[in-house]
This record gives sequence, structure tokens and C-alpha cells, in this order.
Amino acid sequence: MSVEKRTKSIDLSHHLSELSKARATSPLKGLMKYFSQPGILALGGGLPSPAYFPVSDISANVLVPESFALAPIESSTSFTWLWKLFGSQNATKEKTQAVTIPKYTTVDGDINLASSLQYGAAIAQQQLQVFLKNFISEVYQPAFEDWTVLIDTGNTDGWSRAVTTLCNPGEGVLCEEWTYPSAIASMLPSNIKPVPVAMDGLGMKSDALENLLSQWDPVSRQMPRPHVMYIVPVGQNPSGSTMSVERKKQIYDICVKYDVIIVEDDPYYFLQLGDYTFKGDRSPGATASGKPSAEESKRYVSTLNPSFLNFDYQGRVIRLDTFSKTIAPGSRLGWFTCNPVFAERLERQGETSTQAPCGFGQAVITKILTHWTYDGYIRWLRGLRTEYQQRRNFFIDCLADEFHLNAVPAVAGVWQGCIAYEASSKVKKSTSMTEKYSTRNRTMFSFVPPVAGMFVWMKLHLDQHPSFTPGDEDTLETKLWTKLAENGVLFGPGWMFAANALDGDSENTNAGHFRISFSNVDLPDLKKAVTIFGRVVREFFEEEGL
Ligand code: PLP
Repeated sequence: MSVEKRTKSIDLSHHLSELSKARATSPLKGLMKYFSQPGILALGGGLPSPAYFPVSDISANVLVPESFALAPIESSTSFTWLWKLFGSQNATKEKTQAVTIPKYTTVDGDINLASSLQYGAAIAQQQLQVFLKNFISEVYQPAFEDWTVLIDTGNTDGWSRAVTTLCNPGEGVLCEEWTYPSAIASMLPSNIKPVPVAMDGLGMKSDALENLLSQWDPVSRQMPRPHVMYIVPVGQNPSGSTMSVERKKQIYDICVKYDVIIVEDDPYYFLQLGDYTFKGDRSPGATASGKPSAEESKRYVSTLNPSFLNFDYQGRVIRLDTFSKTIAPGSRLGWFTCNPVFAERLERQGETSTQAPCGFGQAVITKILTHWTYDGYIRWLRGLRTEYQQRRNFFIDCLADEFHLNAVPAVAGVWQGCIAYEASSKVKKSTSMTEKYSTRNRTMFSFVPPVAGMFVWMKLHLDQHPSFTPGDEDTLETKLWTKLAENGVLFGPGWMFAANALDGDSENTNAGHFRISFSNVDLPDLKKAVTIFGRVVREFFEEEGL
């Protein structure tokens, strides 16, 4: 992954929007750099005295980095949830370590509330800056030299700032044909429209992107050729697809050719789960606790799918990272990694709205990270990955228990190039002593086990429904979705993830999907949900006496 010779980013300032160019430095924020000078007598700002901050310290019990096992632990009767430390399978107590953030500190560089809770620079508290810079150089290894870090309040904020910093009203943004609805919702009111690009099993298709850009006609499209891309390359939301290194390089090269800025929204980067294999074919999980170590961090990081940053020799990628999926969404903390020109404009935008993410959150997260250290955090991420891998496996095992799953190579559509599982009914007929299973031929739905992220994207084979008429997919999807909701199971309705769904302009003919998240409910409830789904979906496809 390492790049031999790194150069500085090229000048990409022509991508800045009119709004962004018009932003001046907040006059008060311009003074901030002097506040941190040792010995300065700061009488210039409206800073409250820390003596009046009502919190004298914050203490927390933090899970140890090796709290979760490094390989799925499964047994025939139960599913071990929290990694049981020190070999005791009956241990119920989480192993924690106490950390404290005092208001004042005498040790140089220690995190303290007097400065964390004070007005501060929008880029990040100093200790967090240091941690993130090291993290980025170890994990993403950007290919350009002058990358910089700027914190935000998570990727929702990151994208919303990026789009207004780069796009003018009337422009379009390239995105996957199925995408994260909030990303679209944040740009539509500014009259910035999604420009969907076809997908296959690896996410956005490079040939479709090339065709779209090379044949762009601003007159018939009523907008200039897009110069910004929004992309979720790992554990894509909603399709679950993950882009290969080769595909990323192709997309990057096309973006160089047509001068497109890539905004890489990557919240599921550390949930790279690997392939799914059926229950009976899995090897038993490891039992070692796996202490954090530099060697293990290096080895693990080398197994991860590289970020677009890793090929970005020009500085045209704005990468969005978030602590939402790795620490907690309520922390509202994330960061941009990008070239210094974009970072400066993004900072200008932040300092007149949130100023900086909440000081309490920054202090606590920074304390956890610096307490764990880089290797501890990587160890934590590896454990999380295993947890979600177990959940993914468990959920698909439940589907395999409930339905007959037939593995077939997908030749078209969002799964082209992958092995998809087609689900048909497993009808159970009891006889006096034995149980026979007869399998019906009708495929009710299909899916590809995701190799990253939190979602299974389920395609409904609505043409197999007795009352199907072409063009009626959305109605049938909603009908089934409502039946499920009435029976107590809530899935994400597929229509809302179509890139142009909110535009009132949906041309996506490949409709009829559910997005199912295996990330949150307990395993027994996950099992219950699949059982209810099984009953409801069978009834649905057997309507009208078929
Ligand atoms: N981007 C994508 C693709 C997501 O799936 C999500 C959360 O579901 C977010 C952004 C939101 O991230 P954050 O909590 O950092 O704002």
C-alpha cells in the first residue's frame, strides 16, 4: 500500500463553490492562534473563566481494548456475546479501566477540562489532532504529502459541509444508484441534484461512470458535467457492496481524467467482515484474547481494503471518517482528511455554525483513544469487526434455517459478479415420526451476504407475486413492508434508497428491496424477526390461492 514518492496536492481551488469562496475568516476565530501562545495575557475574547465551569473532573470506566474476541465464538447451544476475559465462560463482568480528566493538569500535554471546555480552534483539540494524524498515516497512508485533518460532528455534517463547499445550486453530484438518503436530502434544498451511476457487486461501475462523463450533454441534462462524487465504497449503504482495489483505482483515474472531486463517506471501513460461509463449513473460532501489539496492528491494517486516499496523488479526495460506528453515534465526532485548501474552507464553514464539536465529547473520546493508544484502538476495532461478523453470520444462518437458499452467480444488476442466494420456501410437512421438507421452486427474494458493514440488501422477486404487473414494484414492496410492520418487524423500505427517490424523479426500474440491519437487536430477537418474516413473506407470495 505504501507509496514511494509523495508529492503535494495540485491546485483544485477551481472546485470551490461561490458560497465557499465568499466566506471570510470569522474575525474572532482569526485571533485564536494567539490564545495558545505560552504566557499570553488573553484579554481579547469573550472567554469565560474555567473557574466557573461546573465540572471539576470527568471519570469514566472504559472497556479494555481486548474486550471482544478476535474470531467468532459459536457453540451449538448458545452464542457467546461479550468476550469472556481470562478464559471464564461464566464471567459476566466487563473488564474496565478507570480514566479521569481533571479540570487542571500540571503535566504538559495532558487532556484537561479547562482547555477542552473552553472555546477552541475548530480543527480539533491538540491531543486529538496528534492521534488522528498518526492514525491516518498508519492506516490510510495518503498518497499526497500535504493532507490535513479537520474534525466535524460526524459524516452527516462532513458531507453537508463538503457539498456546499464544492457545489453551486443547479449542479449535480455523482453517486451510486442506491445510496444513503440523508446525503441526498442534505443537497436537494440547495438545488443540487443526484446523478446516479449504475452499480454491480463491487459498487459504482467504472464503465458506467466513464460513459456518463464522456457523453455528458449539459443542454439535455440541464446541468454542467458533475465535478463532485459522493461515494460509500465499503459496506455500502444500502447495498452492502464493497469496492475492490482495482475498481477504486479505475474510478480514481476516471475522476482525474474528468477532474472530479471524490468525497469518500466511509463509516463502515472498520467493519470489513470477510466472506460468509454456511454454519457447517466454518472453522472454530480462536480463543486467545489477543493483546494489542504494534506487529498485530500493522498486519491487520495491511489486510484492509485501502481508502481512496491511498491512490490520491493529486489531493482530490475528501475522506469522511466518523466515531459513530466505532465508539458511539451520540459522540457526534468525526473528521475530514483532505488537501489544505479544502480543509481551510471547510473550517471557515464550521466556525460560523458549530464552531467546534462539543468539548465534553472531544475530551472523553480523546482520553479513551490516548489511554488505549493507537495499538489498543486497532485492537478494539478488530474486536468490533468480529462482533458484527458474528451478527451477520447469525442473521444469514437464520435465513438459511427458514428458507431454502440456492447459490447462483448474479449476471446483472447490483450483484453482478457475486454469488447471490435465491430464497424459496422450505415447506415443512410433519409425518408421525419424521419431518420431510419439500422445496418450492418460486424464488421470493435474493441477497448477497455483505462482506462489510451492517446491512443485508434484499431483492424481492416481486414478478413471482400472483398479482404482479410490471411497474407495480413499489406498491408491492410497500404492501409487504406494511404487512411486516403490522406483524412487528420493521425493515428499511428499499424505495427510499434510490438516489433519485426524493427528487420525485425515480427512474429506477430495479425496484423491490428491503434494507435489513443486523447491527442492533439481540440475537434471539433477530431469530424471531426472521421467523416472522418467513411466515409473512410466504403468505404474501401465496396470496390469491397460488
Ligand atoms: N454516511 C453513511 C453512508 C451512513 O450509513 C451513516 C449512518 O448510518 C452516516 C453517514 C451518518 O454518520 P454520522 O453519524 O457520522 O453522521
